Amino acid sequence: MEQPETYAQGTADADAAADPQEAAVPMAAIMSGMPEVWRKLLAAHVPDRLGRCSGCRSATGSGERWPCSLHRIASDAQRLHDQDLARAVDSD
Ligand SMILES: [Zn+2]
Repeated sequence: MEQPETYAQGTADADAAADPQEAAVPMAAIMSGMPEVWRKLLAAHVPDRLGRCSGCRSATGSGERWPCSLHRIASDAQRLHDQDLARAVDSD
C-alpha cells in the first residue's frame, strides 16, 4: 500500500513556518530579494502631518502611528538589500 509521503511532509513544513515570533526577520530577508515590493511599501507607508502612516490609514480608518510594522519590514529589507550590494562590490 502506497503512502502520500510528499504531501504529508509539505503539510508539516507549512505548519512549522507559521510561527509569528520567527516571522519578522525572515520576512525582511525574503523581501530584500524583491526590491519592487519593498520600494512600493516604502513609497506608500509614509508619515502624514499627524505622524500617522498614510499607507495604513485607508485600511484601518484612523491610521497606525508611523513607522508602522509594514514600513519597518520594508526598511529592514532595503537595508539587507543594500548590504548585499555592498558585499558584492567589496568582493569584486
Ligand atoms: Zn503603514
